[in-house]
Amino acid sequence: MLNIKNLKVNIENKEILKGLDLEIKPGEVHVLMGQNGAGKSTLVKTLSAHYDCDVIEGEIEYKDKNLLDLDVSQRANEGIFMSFQNPVEVKGVNNSYFLRTAMNEKRKYNHQEELDTMEFLKLSKEELSKYDIDKKLMQRDLNDGFSGGEKKRNELVQLLLLKPDLIMLDEIDSGLDVDAVKTVANVVKDLLKDKSRSLLMITHYDKLLSQIKPDFVHIMQNGKIVKTGDYSLALELDSKGYEAIGIKDETN
Ligand code: ADP
Ligand code: MG
Repeated sequence: MLNIKNLKVNIENKEILKGLDLEIKPGEVHVLMGQNGAGKSTLVKTLSAHYDCDVIEGEIEYKDKNLLDLDVSQRANEGIFMSFQNPVEVKGVNNSYFLRTAMNEKRKYNHQEELDTMEFLKLSKEELSKYDIDKKLMQRDLNDGFSGGEKKRNELVQLLLLKPDLIMLDEIDSGLDVDAVKTVANVVKDLLKDKSRSLLMITHYDKLLSQIKPDFVHIMQNGKIVKTGDYSLALELDSKGYEAIGIKDETN
């Protein structure tokens, strides 16, 4: 699915990722952990072609293609999805319209017929009714005035409609109550039933990990992955903290 070799990325001429390697196979669940500022968001932003991130060195292979040759829309249409740590509010853009446009762009790219308004409404209703997501979000402007929880739920709506191959979730669980975390887990688990999908998620909490058991847990520090283990590494981190597993606190 994804193979990253020696990735170096600058943001505003400052080196943030300093030679990162990561391989994700179809069906695998990977978790990125690490202290604030380690470069976790920078990695997922780089993979989605965010304009902040300048790739200086390294290779990224995605589904047998050179990911760096693809622009942001091509990457989305090829099945890459990133949920924002802080979803942007876009006043004046109707959410339902936004979602249908995104979906139809992907369908066009894959030579599928576009959905008209009625077909889209039927499909989105079906998807949302399976989960604890209020349909009223669809009629509002994109994230405009949404509560923190509503914004995160709206990221899930995008996931459900776009059905990406590589799902990247950046702290989707932070600030969510127990029920909302459960909704996140239910949506993601259902999508992962299709074993061709992979998940890369960033989280600080076991609440989500205990529901979506990761195959690999990576600890990032100073722009690199410095430790990789299985779910037990996340549990160890949760109970003992970074210092006890040999990661010194960089935030001081
Ligand atoms: P994490 O997600 O692990 O907390 P980030 O990837 O967000 O870390 O940030 C890594 C480093 O890059 C931090 O030192 C942060 O200040 C810096 N950084 C991130 N975005 C920007 C930006 N837009 N401009 C300048 N520095 C940035
Ligand atoms: Mg971050």
